[in-house]
Amino acid sequence: MARIVQKFGGTSLATLDRIRAAAQRVKAEVALGSEVAVVVSAMAGTTNDLVEKCSALSPLHDAREYDTVVSAGEQVSSGLLALALQEIGVSARSWLGWQVALRTDDAHGKARILSIDTAELERRLANREVAVLAGFQGIAPNQRITTLGRGGSDTTAVALAAALGADRCDIHTDVDGVYTCDPRIVRQARKLSKITYEEMLEMASLGAKVLQTRSVEMAMKHRVPLRVLSSFEDLPGTLVVDEDEIVEQEVVSGIAYSRDEAKITLIGVADRPGIAATIFGPLADANVNVDMIVQNISEDGATTDVTFTVGKADQQRAVDLLRDLEPQLRYAQLRPDPDVVKISVIGVGMRSHAGVAQRMFAALSENGINIQVISTSEIKISVLVAERYLELAVRALHTAYGLDGD
Ligand code: ASP
Ligand code: MG
Repeated sequence: MARIVQKFGGTSLATLDRIRAAAQRVKAEVALGSEVAVVVSAMAGTTNDLVEKCSALSPLHDAREYDTVVSAGEQVSSGLLALALQEIGVSARSWLGWQVALRTDDAHGKARILSIDTAELERRLANREVAVLAGFQGIAPNQRITTLGRGGSDTTAVALAAALGADRCDIHTDVDGVYTCDPRIVRQARKLSKITYEEMLEMASLGAKVLQTRSVEMAMKHRVPLRVLSSFEDLPGTLVVDEDEIVEQEVVSGIAYSRDEAKITLIGVADRPGIAATIFGPLADANVNVDMIVQNISEDGATTDVTFTVGKADQQRAVDLLRDLEPQLRYAQLRPDPDVVKISVIGVGMRSHAGVAQRMFAALSENGINIQVISTSEIKISVLVAERYLELAVRALHTAYGLDGD
């Protein structure tokens, strides 16, 4: 008998009619003979509304009370879905994080899951009762409610699937799968029938907001087969699986982009040992995440230029820190530039193919797009370009790698 975890996102539960439709999907899975546990998000808009209320009342709010408030949306949707299931003759009950218990650390607002007690859930699943678990929430060691960070109910679903040893975790959402590129930018983007965990991880962390990044990390670690599918249409969706389950691996699976980048250049920094540590140590201490880094060779043997990128939200903090460091770094100029985007081509097939980067550089150059910074990993090549080239660059690359559909 199959054991399935089904997750429904906020848009899939946005109205009572949609909750009824979700209940029908659960019922259909139960009718196949599966044991079914469901994880729900809050109804669309609810969490945003609760977050705004906290900020309005207390701009620098107590993170523990914030979690008490923003976790409430999932309590409502779990109870409503359990009711909708009962109405159509499916035995079901709701579970809050603390009732299970789903234990987390005490990093309120972005807590990590430590363990899930599944004994009682498993007993009830075996008795044909559907468990409807409120996503996004858990309980800290001091018994206070925690939340897992925005989009965290994906992670609840994968964690539950791992803990239950589920055969599959179905993520029902408002898109019908994972695409080769953002269909809003590239009309010829194609839906992928399969993608590897590693590729999905890159896509998710680069801003293809289909799944919370952490949920993909967890699925990869515990080898939970994931399926991303629409809750509105009966389509097969995209399977996120291990590499060896994909028979014909494309060299490049997708093109992703991120607008959340800001470039900072230091001109004329002394070229001596310890300079990189002097720049990046204080940034790390201040929790500023640095992404791409390039350092030029020194023309005169005395000074060099260093360019790097940070998240847009961290740009001002990084600039302030570097101003404070001027006496040690003695750079000639500090130049921040927020008008950049990072574009990446992603594919596990790159490991075994040469010339993948060259195709990217050629496509960009044919379109007169200047590359400002390049970085690579085993399965990804990223470039930084001026923001105004985003659409042109993404479309050109989609075509260059043969990803265009009809
Ligand atoms: N309701 C939470 C949010 O909006 C968690 C989730 O939907 O995954 O971020
Ligand atoms: Mg989501």
